[in-house]
Amino acid sequence: MRKLLFCLFFLPLTALAQSSPIAFAIHGGAGFVDSNKVSPELRARYRMVLTEASLTGYGILKRGGTSLEAVEAAIRILEDSPLFNAGRGAVTNAEGFCELDASIMDGSKRQAGAVAGLTTVKNPITLARLVKDSTTHVLLMGEGAERFASQMPVERVERSYFLERDPDKKGEVPAWLHDAKFGTVGAVALDRSGNLAAGTSTGGMRGKKFGRVGDVPLIGAGTYAENGVVAVSCTGHGEFFIRQVAAYEVAALMKYKGMTVQQAADAVIYQQLKPIGGSGGLIALDAQGNIHLPFNSGSMFRASVDNAGKITVGIW
Ligand code: ASP
Repeated sequence: MRKLLFCLFFLPLTALAQSSPIAFAIHGGAGFVDSNKVSPELRARYRMVLTEASLTGYGILKRGGTSLEAVEAAIRILEDSPLFNAGRGAVTNAEGFCELDASIMDGSKRQAGAVAGLTTVKNPITLARLVKDSTTHVLLMGEGAERFASQMPVERVERSYFLERDPDKKGEVPAWLHDAKFGTVGAVALDRSGNLAAGTSTGGMRGKKFGRVGDVPLIGAGTYAENGVVAVSCTGHGEFFIRQVAAYEVAALMKYKGMTVQQAADAVIYQQLKPIGGSGGLIALDAQGNIHLPFNSGSMFRASVDNAGKITVGIW
């Protein structure tokens, strides 16, 4: 009898859990990349890295890994590429060096970790995750974050490692990219257990002054994840995304107004941010695996993989 009851009540739940969808999406920054200036070779390089990062994230989910693992792994690939404004390719501040910001959020526990103003950490997204996992804090900044990094198993680099895009150095990217506006990277994931996660990593805005911190390490502004609702990672002019609490606003519109992920993300990008001059975009993924990637700027590097494994890559 007990066995029968077990089968009746628990097996359907197990079956349901196994059939729950997985989905994954990334962005490599919104901006105003002129399609005429992007050679076929460069376009292919972008497609290659976006494809590698999104299939890495999706592969982790497919093998039963967590959404957090998928987000971190994909962002590390984008951080290691010189093509994006994050990690290696980060833009420089007004004083000519790089200060990096990142954040990650676990939608299942509503836990988050973030770092701001890093100068020697190769993969800021990993340190952000360690803030979440190894401290009782959410956001560490500047010198303190660097000291924390010294106690953690993260790779450190010389400041010059990040200067690949500096016009004075022989970079691996064409000169016009130095002027490209944004370029932050981010990822959102839904795993087999229905857990949503989001992460974002950036060098911030080129020429930023006085220890400026953008939306990326601010939970709710540049990054947000909540199980049962949505995971969001933003890119664009950070000051506007902070004022609009953009990532959380997508979740709020879904929760309190009953909007779909598409309606909510479009409302934030086109109706709220655009009229006040907030250019940029976001990637959003709901609890059913629906993906929406709107942007109000000329371009947004992006890729997504749906439950069936179908990959879509785009720039314009
Ligand atoms: N949102 C980032 C910031 O303001 C920039 C970007 O998305 O490229 O720091």
